[in-house]
Amino acid sequence: MTTDRKYVEELIEQEDDFDRWYVEVIQKAELADESPVRGTRVIRPYGFALWENMQAELDRRIKATGVQNAYFPLFIPKSFLEREAEHIKGFAPEVAWVTRGGDKELEEWLAVRPTSESIICPMFARWVQSYRDLPILINQWCSVVRWEERPRAFLRTLEFLWQEGHTVHATLEEAEERARLMLEVYRDFVESELAIPVIPGQKTESEKFAGALRTYTIEAMMGGKHWALQSATSHNLGDHFGKVFDITFLDREGKRRYVFNTSWGLSHRTIGAMVMVHGDDRGLKLPPRVAPIQVVIVPIWRKDEERRQVEETVDRVRAMLRRAVRVHADLRDDKTPGWKFNDWDLKGVPIRLEIGPRDVASDQVTLVRRDVLGQRQAVPIANLVGAVQSELESIQVSLFRAARAMLERYTEDVRDYEVLKERVATNAGFNRAFWCGDPACEARVKAETKATVRCIPFEQPAELEPCLVCGAPGKYQVIWARAY
Ligand code: AMP
Repeated sequence: MTTDRKYVEELIEQEDDFDRWYVEVIQKAELADESPVRGTRVIRPYGFALWENMQAELDRRIKATGVQNAYFPLFIPKSFLEREAEHIKGFAPEVAWVTRGGDKELEEWLAVRPTSESIICPMFARWVQSYRDLPILINQWCSVVRWEERPRAFLRTLEFLWQEGHTVHATLEEAEERARLMLEVYRDFVESELAIPVIPGQKTESEKFAGALRTYTIEAMMGGKHWALQSATSHNLGDHFGKVFDITFLDREGKRRYVFNTSWGLSHRTIGAMVMVHGDDRGLKLPPRVAPIQVVIVPIWRKDEERRQVEETVDRVRAMLRRAVRVHADLRDDKTPGWKFNDWDLKGVPIRLEIGPRDVASDQVTLVRRDVLGQRQAVPIANLVGAVQSELESIQVSLFRAARAMLERYTEDVRDYEVLKERVATNAGFNRAFWCGDPACEARVKAETKATVRCIPFEQPAELEPCLVCGAPGKYQVIWARAY
């Protein structure tokens, strides 16, 4: 049986309207649903299971660097949020405020946390006395609220799920090391688990986090329009927060000093990244390492006596696989096999196993990969566990390779500002170009093309060329692109 689009509700094709495809695929694959509150989404069980798998793996990796989880209140007193001037200036337009409790006006407004530096730092001030208390390495999994103007499912929602790490150190060097270490944790997580290649680098002054000394980022290229997505960030906050929240310690010589902080976050935006990077006209393609269902079994039968035999084999195969992989048997009897094939393709399940009377007779199953069109292989049941595991690994690798090929194909070295304008206007991809470091050139490009400096990649060429915009000596090679 072949996959036939008529069995499931049609999905708009990516080429026709990528942004609508994105909205439709999320809805139809049951990752998320609209909610009554503008800019927020309900994450459905299938989407939440995906997030839980991501969360479990990232949590493990964060803890492996010595970080502990904790939880801080959702509300931040107005006066706390306002203490760091740059921080509040940056976040003020996006903060949701609680002004009443029950029927009483609050004496002091409470911010619903847009990020938690200003509630965690006062606690650090209590917990840090001497150099012996340092470093403190804390992470929390929670949701935060930012009143976004242009919300988009997963990528930019008013309320979003994330983890936010907060650390406090005795020296600037240690804070720098931690900020870079956590960016590397994100890079490896996003590349190995989500199969998305990223460009790690530093944000420019105008794009950095409000209140940070330096912001590091990993930038990924999305499918469709080949725009960029900032996929996670890590900030070296320097001693700004230490000074305004008065976090001090006695060093070994008994001198009182200010601490240095970092913070770093990865949000459910990365679910949107997987949708946009790997998806195709048939739907999602989920990387096996995080897919809620790695293998789906679809029984095929016509007559009742076939049904009994087939379902017995399905049970046996499921029991075998269950110990090794996340497997689901689709036993719905109101849907045809063809309908189910399309449904699981839409949901991005990496491997489908078909079991029909002929497979039963020869003690085999038919294995179909979501990422390879039209390829079917018969696998003896005796070898199934090993075969499925190695196919899953192979799918993980091939998704990453395809995404990397896209990133390379749609990235160009640009030496002429007119070419940059043309490329941005036609959604031609990422533009590697030299920049003098002057914010005026950066602002001009943004105003004239809507492209921004996504990052100053850590990897810089040995020779610098003149600035693309003004021709002055180049200070960095940067990536210009439009971003979601
Ligand atoms: P920030 O604290 O601003 O550095 O944000 C940390 C990470 O959260 C960013 O790198 C984004 O990937 C993500 N993020 C920021 N705003 C949103 C939002 N409104 N919805 C989803 N993810 C977000």
